[in-house]
Amino acid sequence: MTTASLSQELFDRACRVIPSGVNSPVRAFGSVGGTPPFIASASGALLTDADGREYVDLVGSWGPMILGHANPQVVAAVQEAATRGLSFGAPQAGEVGIAEEVARRIGPVEQLRLVNSGTEATMSALRVARAATGRDVVVKFAGCYHGHVDALLAEAGSGVATFAMPGSAGVTAATARDTVVLPYGDREALTALLAERGGEIAAIITEAAPANMGVVPPPVVEGVGFNRFLAESAHAAGALLISDEVLTGFRASEEGHYGIDGKGWAPDLMTFGKVIGGGLPVGAFGGRADLMGLLAPAGPVYQAGTLSGNPLATAAGLATFAGLDDAAYAQLTSASTALQQLVADALTTAGVPHVIQRAGTLFSVFFREDEVRTYADAKAQDTDAFRRFFHALLEDGIYLPPSAFEAWFVSTAHTPEVIDRIAEALPAAARAAAAG
Ligand code: PMP
Repeated sequence: MTTASLSQELFDRACRVIPSGVNSPVRAFGSVGGTPPFIASASGALLTDADGREYVDLVGSWGPMILGHANPQVVAAVQEAATRGLSFGAPQAGEVGIAEEVARRIGPVEQLRLVNSGTEATMSALRVARAATGRDVVVKFAGCYHGHVDALLAEAGSGVATFAMPGSAGVTAATARDTVVLPYGDREALTALLAERGGEIAAIITEAAPANMGVVPPPVVEGVGFNRFLAESAHAAGALLISDEVLTGFRASEEGHYGIDGKGWAPDLMTFGKVIGGGLPVGAFGGRADLMGLLAPAGPVYQAGTLSGNPLATAAGLATFAGLDDAAYAQLTSASTALQQLVADALTTAGVPHVIQRAGTLFSVFFREDEVRTYADAKAQDTDAFRRFFHALLEDGIYLPPSAFEAWFVSTAHTPEVIDRIAEALPAAARAAAAG
């Protein structure tokens, strides 16, 4: 077990003054055990912990670091912005740049507002949807995570899945009553719900491709993708579709998962985060101009933020977008594909049941034989095998997401040399996974 001394010392201190020693639950290594390394610095695909140990990083700050850590262009842009002031609480050009870039890449986004996290983005999109429809109920899918919004925590993915929590304490019964949870991909269940309660439903919210219970690509039935089906079903019921691209946005493809889903349909509202802030705290929600026009001050829906559209965050986001050209996506695709093949080979050789699922450049590894289509499937995997695999890799200097329910994140800094380093560690880790 990696319990390097300075990290251990820091973790002990942290646990006294920070709940569980962390500011976001999955970081605590609660489901895999052991002490999380405290990170002192990061560069490209590598992390260095407080004890000077180096790791190949496959977490990428859970998505934002798509150009690698401390990318020189991004760092320079932030440094330059910092010399011009850290926050104005007044409009600045970078906000316009981000909104234009998102609108240019993502057809359904006519207008965009910046916030400070993905949680704020989904919370605000939901408020707009409720105001637009005059209805209260929201439909979400089990295993999808949309941040820690009260109404959206029921059967959520990410840390809620990692720690096998049904939802969260502290959410009122009234809020829980306004949330209906359906199995992911279940068209019949949605159709039945809409037939019965369609008039109460403000919005259906979904991850564009679920990636917080591991990656589950939206199923296509008779040529109709699940997201398109959701949009058409919502609209027939007078409800809206909110497509959450906080994780998939500008990662699954240049146009997010929407770019993979095919055209000819559109969500009404979309949410973003992670990549668009290049590692600084940013989220965004956007969509149809008539809906976004409901926001204050022009409209009746209040939504605001002292630091929203922060100039450092928009500088990091714009520099990240500038680096996300065709060559970058080609590099992400080849790193992701190579890694999937290596993991599959190592686990197959060691005789470890597994299935790898992908959505564009995003992928995850489930420790079970069969395809994962729902949250129930995702939960039915061998998390002990994952735990052994995780620790063997960590010992060898490979830092995976510390949960069997998370996507693996590569960056443009995951060059063939970096992938080779992972390749060297995989066979022993696969044998450790097998040795149950
Ligand atoms: N939606 C999705 C799909 C996410 O993956 C996340 C975070 N992992 C969020 C929303 C919440 O974003 P944040 O952590 O920035 O609040």
